[in-house]
Amino acid sequence: MEIRETGIPRRSLLGAAGFSGLAASAAPEPSTTFNRNSAPSDLKITDIRACTVASNFDYPIIRIDTNQGVYGLGEVRDGGVRGQALVLKPHILGRNPLHIHSILELLRPYSGHGRLGGGFSAIDMALHDIAGKVYGVPAYRLIGDKLRDRIRVYCDTTPSTDAKVYARRMLDRKKQGFTFFKMDVGVGLVKDRPGALRDGSPTEKGLAYMGEYIEAVRDAIGYDVPLGTDHYGRLSVPDAIRLGKAFDRFELAWLEDIIDWRDWRGFKEITDAVLTPNLTGENTFGVEGFRDLIENRAVDIIHPDPETSGAIRETKAIADLAERYGIATAFHFAGSPVGCMASVHCAATVRNFVSMENHAVDIPWWDDLVTGIAKPIVNHGFIEVPEKPGLGVELNDDAVKEHLRYPGYFEPTPEYDFPLVSVRIWERGPYPHITEDGTVRNVKD
Ligand SMILES: [Mg+2]
Repeated sequence: MEIRETGIPRRSLLGAAGFSGLAASAAPEPSTTFNRNSAPSDLKITDIRACTVASNFDYPIIRIDTNQGVYGLGEVRDGGVRGQALVLKPHILGRNPLHIHSILELLRPYSGHGRLGGGFSAIDMALHDIAGKVYGVPAYRLIGDKLRDRIRVYCDTTPSTDAKVYARRMLDRKKQGFTFFKMDVGVGLVKDRPGALRDGSPTEKGLAYMGEYIEAVRDAIGYDVPLGTDHYGRLSVPDAIRLGKAFDRFELAWLEDIIDWRDWRGFKEITDAVLTPNLTGENTFGVEGFRDLIENRAVDIIHPDPETSGAIRETKAIADLAERYGIATAFHFAGSPVGCMASVHCAATVRNFVSMENHAVDIPWWDDLVTGIAKPIVNHGFIEVPEKPGLGVELNDDAVKEHLRYPGYFEPTPEYDFPLVSVRIWERGPYPHITEDGTVRNVKD
């Protein structure tokens, strides 16, 4: 692990912080130690808008605007909808975006697991983007120390029922420079082979067939690199234990989501019985969602997706809790470069970090969606941690507009002006009630 403190040239930050509209009235002073172009105590959130990129999954991207021109970008979980974030608009308008912790605690009751974690997460990203720009520091600096300069990426490839083809595709990933691999080994791969399944569960014969694919891939990429496995479907605990023991000989990096993540007791049984590490969590929100898995040592590795788990600040808290229990942290990720870089900033600070997923390495225009960072973004299996204020990326408007799911690019959102639940619950009534003479009257009458 490379640990390094970052020296950021102050002058370059003043030019990069995105306050050009204000510079005319307050010229920057090269010797100043903080950015006088902003007045942080007067900063207010004025709007939240969105657009949705059509890609392998939809990427709902949000922008939080302020009264000082500085804005922040964020992303709702891939495959989610922009409304997950926009519906939170009345709860954040008028607030100081630098009060990140307070705003997020306010939004916590409106978050949830799966795609329902996407709104909270998108707003977390945008707030850290704004705060980083205002203070002139990369987002990672707002939550911890930079423990690594680049983030190790893992990716899978399209499965094939032909083990030789599958192995060749995985070898191609190695040739692209990846140093961490994952393959999908669902029972679907062997369902048409005689005697492979009984009532949908793999038989001993079926496990042997599935093992042939893993063996072919191991022979192609070697046993000296990490290889995770996924997409087993949901097995019973006994079936998961049988499978895990059968596959221990392949020395896999992990078995992913082999049962439902909510069953921490089931995971505990499997983890205690099998040598191969267990991993889960891509649909889990918040410390509260991960607590049982971690504190019971039910898994060996947690696998939050920062676009569901709460993004930069919450995912750091989850990873820190895991670290205290000797549990490692890998990130699930399948979104745009905006959410990717937010995740990279978080990963840079996580001591027990293993690797982060990328689902877009075959999409030729994925890099084009943003500017401001080194390209290719995933470079020989690693992503560089940006040294620019905030997330370090801006949208390439033309490229994003080429790939919109719906018409409209950061249009006004008046339909989201009303809160999910009333934030002014004391403004209520009237209370109709039936009086003694049988008439209906209001209490306030
Ligand atoms: Mg998965």
